[in-house]
Amino acid sequence: MPDRTRVRTRLKVIGLWVPGTGGPSCLPHQPIPAPPAPGLSRPDSTGTVYDRCPMLESVAHNRIAIIGTGFSGIAAAVRLGEAGETDFVLYERSGDVGGTWRDNTYPGCACDVPSHLYSFSFAPNPTWSRAFSPQPEIQRYLRGVAESYGVTPRVRFHHEIEDASWDDADRVWRLNTSRGERTADILVSAVGGLSAPSIPEIEGLGDFEGPAFHSAEWDHEADLEGKRVAVIGTGASAIQFVPELQPKVASIDLFQRTPPWIMPRRDRPVSKIERRLFRAFPVLQKAVRTAIYWGRELFVLPMLKPRIAGRTELIARKHLEHQVPDPELRAKLTPDYSIGCKRILLSNQYYRSLGEENVEVVTTGIREIRRDCVVTEDGVEHTADAIVFGTGFKVADMPVGHQIHGRGGVSLHETWAGSPTAHLGVTVGGFPNFFMLMGPNTGLGHTSVTIMIEAQVDYLVQALGHLRRDETSVMEPTPAAIRGWRSEIDRLSEGTVWTAGGCNSWYLDDNGKNSILWPSFATGYRHRLNRFRPEDFEFGPGRTARVAVDTSVSA
Ligand code: NAP
Repeated sequence: MPDRTRVRTRLKVIGLWVPGTGGPSCLPHQPIPAPPAPGLSRPDSTGTVYDRCPMLESVAHNRIAIIGTGFSGIAAAVRLGEAGETDFVLYERSGDVGGTWRDNTYPGCACDVPSHLYSFSFAPNPTWSRAFSPQPEIQRYLRGVAESYGVTPRVRFHHEIEDASWDDADRVWRLNTSRGERTADILVSAVGGLSAPSIPEIEGLGDFEGPAFHSAEWDHEADLEGKRVAVIGTGASAIQFVPELQPKVASIDLFQRTPPWIMPRRDRPVSKIERRLFRAFPVLQKAVRTAIYWGRELFVLPMLKPRIAGRTELIARKHLEHQVPDPELRAKLTPDYSIGCKRILLSNQYYRSLGEENVEVVTTGIREIRRDCVVTEDGVEHTADAIVFGTGFKVADMPVGHQIHGRGGVSLHETWAGSPTAHLGVTVGGFPNFFMLMGPNTGLGHTSVTIMIEAQVDYLVQALGHLRRDETSVMEPTPAAIRGWRSEIDRLSEGTVWTAGGCNSWYLDDNGKNSILWPSFATGYRHRLNRFRPEDFEFGPGRTARVAVDTSVSA
């Protein structure tokens, strides 16, 4: 829609934009209302938990089904609507949009990528309050985008996809949802990699009598004030919530397996004047975004060429020295692998909080958990009233891998045999008309994943353009395209800090291969997806008429 985009941009620039209405209610076959609100005039949504929409739920078959309503699902819906698709729905297991930003409500939860970049290029938000946004603000932003762009009415809330199987006879996706079976011609997985919390199987965990929960499922009912808290894990989430807990609790025993590399966090409030300027001159905010984009692209260089990482490591070492005067504690917190091998974390408070008297960093491994304590390998009992797991997510072995079945009933998990692979991170052989957003090898360690998501949804739209010529045709990547992509990933990963940095990270799968990260500049990935190459795909006849006949079910 080049004309509309141009008009929209002009209106934005001159500040004459009329916010969208929030879209039609409950009508799955209506186009997305245009134009949407620019600069998110109302990014702060109401906080409503959405009800079921009986009219929407009465439709059994849709051309496109999107699973998930986080950044990826919302972006896909917006772009599909703009491209003229009218028959698509989003399945959401919860009662709200937002994905991982809805679920992660732990104290101190915030983004470590600057807000101007960690947002959609098509929906700049001139009202970000800080350089790095806190979780509630990002969640409000996502709600605001979903509402302003008419995505929300297309969401089937409280519909968990339990299983999705390709029916080769009828050439359609059969979706078993928690509210009955639905079908779709095209399935888009937008579940993301950080949706399934991982809690380690520690002997005796079930015997623990106090509250025990994962950071992504924070138990806000649990009163931790004045309590002895065991925190397991020292990753991206823990370094944010530990400094928040430390002043409130009696003590923290922090169980660290591997210390992370931590850099200073250059956060600051965005001034009122800046916000006014961004609102009045959206082009200014765009320029800031572009500058951050290219600055962040440079961050990947030391990860691609670890031998030039000296300066980055020096900054991190100085940060540690400056914030942790105690040499014994500092030794515990000094990583023994190359910087960047695991995600580089940003914090100005974490190290300081570990130096407080009520915090003990425990580096001995955990043997078991008992009724009221965590027992380490040396037999020491660490008494605890509560346990918080900051132990990350099931990324390489995500549940969706077991739930989605392609030709012959084979699951993604079985197809991948321990090394998830998708052509360009998007399509999988044996899984016709199936598209992944933030699929294998599209994660990033250095910049905003929204860049990858937008490239992927544009690619999706191009791919669907090929299918649209014949309303019911089917496509899947050729074995040669998949092999080519896999070897490109392996070649690019070789010698990078992720494979040669001497750490054990969740970027590497069971076979020791990088199947999570795009091992290069985000710009390179965008270029790869710029043009859809039909020669990378096999096309075939589409859905049989049988499915099309029965398109409605009672609500
Ligand atoms: P994480 O960074 O993967 O950290 C998990 C931590 O748990 C690690 O310290 C890990 O130790 C430890 N752990 C795992 N299993 C353990 C076990 N059995 N015993 C002891 N320790 C164990 O997980 P996360 O903090 O939830 O973050 C996950 C991802 O979410 C991040 O990498 C990032 O992509 C994203 N995130 C982003 C932001 C942001 O600001 N954008 C904020 C939070 C999270 P090892 O290191 O030894 O494995």
